[in-house]
Amino acid sequence: MPDNHYDAIVVGSGISGGWAAKELTEKGLKVLLLERGRNIEHVKDYHNADKEAWDYPHRNEPTQEMIAKYPVLKRDYPLMKPPWACGRMNRPIPT
Ligand SMILES: Cc1cc2nc3c(=O)[nH]c(=O)nc-3n(C[C@H](O)[C@H](O)[C@H](O)COP(=O)(O)OP(=O)(O)OC[C@H]3O[C@@H](n4cnc5c(N)ncnc54)[C@H](O)[C@@H]3O)c2cc1C
Repeated sequence: MPDNHYDAIVVGSGISGGWAAKELTEKGLKVLLLERGRNIEHVKDYHNADKEAWDYPHRNEPTQEMIAKYPVLKRDYPLMKPPWACGRMNRPIPT
């Protein structure tokens, strides 16, 4: 019969959960790490890691149209890198 008992269960393998799991396992605890997302292999699946600005539309900068359309957001994170934060993830730009 499999041993399904764990000292700790960590939900999510982002930086918070990943780091928690690392710390707990290093202390010798038996840890179950649950992740709902797809499997991402270190290095192999980092598709944007070696791209340069010229690999993106408009060099990864907001267009004049975007700046005019979203005057508040243009100061902030989502529009600082629109293809990266919104467009490349096929998400609508928040209004
Ligand atoms: C486009 C973008 C660019 C960014 N760039 C930077 C940057 O350059 N530098 C920087 O420092 N920060 C950056 N950030 C912010 C950084 O990514 C976050 O602050 C950080 O990832 C948060 O870590 P986290 O572990 O709290 O959450 P997350 O990384 O979101 O991890 C949560 C994990 O939990 C999983 N999960 C959620 N619910 C469940 C469930 N019910 N069951 C199982 N698994 C679940 C999710 O799939 C996910 O893998 C960026 C964020 C975005 C969106």
